[in-house]
Amino acid sequence: MTLPPVRLTMTLLALGLLAACGRPEPVQPAAPPEAGAPEPAAETETHAAPAATETEDHAHDQDEGSAGGTAHVHGAADLALSREGAAFEAELISPLANFGLSEADGVFTDVVTAELSGLIELVGGDCTPAVPHAEADTSSGHTDGHIHATWTCADPDRVTALRFAGFTAFPSFETVNAVYITDTAQKAGELTPSAPELSLK
Ligand SMILES: [Zn+2]
Repeated sequence: MTLPPVRLTMTLLALGLLAACGRPEPVQPAAPPEAGAPEPAAETETHAAPAATETEDHAHDQDEGSAGGTAHVHGAADLALSREGAAFEAELISPLANFGLSEADGVFTDVVTAELSGLIELVGGDCTPAVPHAEADTSSGHTDGHIHATWTCADPDRVTALRFAGFTAFPSFETVNAVYITDTAQKAGELTPSAPELSLK
């Protein structure tokens, strides 16, 4: 039999490594206690009790998140537009629930994807839109949809407004916090079903 000598060698190697390492606690099953976390049961996450976040996230922080795109509030979304020469680029970040989609599934259905072409519009400027690109971000407990839209405009200086045209197709959208940022201009506004346009002039 050759196995016992091998195992013995391994053990000696391991002991040698431990000795060389010189650490006082080579095996540490539990993470060291974080500051301000006295609860002994909190072993899974360092923040945000999973059950409680649903109601909290959706109840407050309504006035926050003007352009950050970090707050996940059903009914609200963030829309950012930028321009480089004749090219315009927009990104909408929205809870997937606003599209009537399951955040647990985390996918854009074909029916919804077909509606995305008319979701964001530029007014004036003779602009040609590209097919928007959509993806779902499931990195948090909820799911955000990211819609990336681009245009090439024949007369970009005559683009007068950004319009969110999705309030009709997706009635779960209530407010869209829109920003337009270039080197020389900065506009921001809250778009609603009754006022769906951000003036760029
Ligand atoms: Zn959600």
